[in-house]
Amino acid sequence: MTEKTQTDVWTNWSGWVKANPTNILEPSDEAALVEGVRAAETPIRVTGSGHSFTPICETSGTLISLSNMSGLISSDSTTKRARVYAGTGIREMGPLLHGQGLGLPNQGDIDRQTIAGAVGTGTHGTGTTLGSLSAAVMGFRLVTPSGDVVQCSREENADLFHAGRVAMGSLGIMSEIELQCRDAYALEERGGRMSVSDLFSSLDRLSKDNRHFEFFWFPFADEVLVKTLNEVDAKPKPRRRAPDGSIGPADIAFRRLCEITRFAPFMRSRFQRQMTEQGGARYSGDEPGRARWSHDAFPSDRNVRFNEMEYAIAAEKGPDCVREVAEHMRTCGVNFLFPIEYRYVAKDDAWLSPFYERESVTISIHQYHKQAYKKLFDGVEAIFRNYGGRPHWGKIHTLGAEELCEIYPKWDAFCDVRKRIDPDARMLNPFLKRIFGVS
Ligand SMILES: Cc1cc2nc3c(=O)[nH]c(=O)nc-3n(C[C@H](O)[C@H](O)[C@H](O)COP(=O)(O)OP(=O)(O)OC[C@H]3O[C@@H](n4cnc5c(N)ncnc54)[C@H](O)[C@@H]3O)c2cc1C
Repeated sequence: MTEKTQTDVWTNWSGWVKANPTNILEPSDEAALVEGVRAAETPIRVTGSGHSFTPICETSGTLISLSNMSGLISSDSTTKRARVYAGTGIREMGPLLHGQGLGLPNQGDIDRQTIAGAVGTGTHGTGTTLGSLSAAVMGFRLVTPSGDVVQCSREENADLFHAGRVAMGSLGIMSEIELQCRDAYALEERGGRMSVSDLFSSLDRLSKDNRHFEFFWFPFADEVLVKTLNEVDAKPKPRRRAPDGSIGPADIAFRRLCEITRFAPFMRSRFQRQMTEQGGARYSGDEPGRARWSHDAFPSDRNVRFNEMEYAIAAEKGPDCVREVAEHMRTCGVNFLFPIEYRYVAKDDAWLSPFYERESVTISIHQYHKQAYKKLFDGVEAIFRNYGGRPHWGKIHTLGAEELCEIYPKWDAFCDVRKRIDPDARMLNPFLKRIFGVS
């Protein structure tokens, strides 16, 4: 086990959350993890790759990273299931699964997260028939806050399974995860510009005709950028990925625009229109696409840092909600440059999943990391809440137990499990105490 002490300051990806844990533990196997949890100074928090925007990983006690517990454990070509160590990066997992003839059914915008971190917050991609990464979890091994090890699935410890798939590490630490995969497959990407009015008149068709459909809307532009991914019969070459943190020409140009608008807010509407115009030809659905293996096709590079808020809204209310959000962003007087992102997620049955028993769309807004986000996010959050939205657990929101119990039908059941497995709240930092209403 690697152990570090006090002076190591931890920060999240956007740089807004900082932590000064007394100890940072990096166990190399489950036995060391158990030992570390039993002896740990509290609060105990486990971190993946720190890509959450909220202080869910912050602690003054013990921070545990599973960076040494990574890789494929086993796979089954009949059931198409794979067991992986919980600290495995999604980027590393793609080629490992591919080597077994498998692929994940869906992925998010980036692949820098660990699988346990992504599962723990309900991280998702887009696709009306496709669930979040948590929905692909068939079972997991959990090191509980008291240092016991339990296997959880629909058949074993079912309440822990239903509560624990999306739990923000509040019920303990997953050491291994079993995922439902599918045969390896290739996806073809297409996209381009579309007028806002054409978009809303064809949204239903676009979301149903494409395996993956999403759009990006710079609120000051009267066109949006649409993106589709559809399965194709191809055997593409693996994609060469830029090393983590390397900034390409597109990032450099976008970052420059962010810096200019920071000091010259009146430029933002012109830049937003320009960026939309430069986003490709008018979308027809017939333009030539680019085929890649699924794990290479899903992730984009996101190297200009930002903070983000995202809510899941009942799918049928999505179009009205996103129009209202865009109108608010145009008129609220806050300076911002990033687009709104709009995606689809199929319902699932994890108790604290934002998609619990509800076909959903997700709407997210972003603010450049050097600019304050509170006023912008507060205004948009009020709109999301009017639409009965549920916040993404890894993204900024201001809700506490009182509000959350009204929008999560299984809230009380989750809290009962949490109290039973962690009566002394060893896993809760101040942020999670607010979430779960623990004083
Ligand atoms: C640039 C960027 C792009 C993003 N794109 C998307 C996207 O497309 N879709 C989407 O839904 N979200 C997206 N997110 C949000 C991100 O996927 C989530 O915040 C995710 O949880 C981050 O994973 P992580 O490995 O960094 O986990 P962390 O942020 O480090 O941790 C997340 C949570 O998981 C818990 N956890 C970590 N490991 C374990 C474990 N072994 N056992 C139990 N709990 C554990 C932590 O305690 C914490 O509560 C994006 C974030 C960024 C910064």
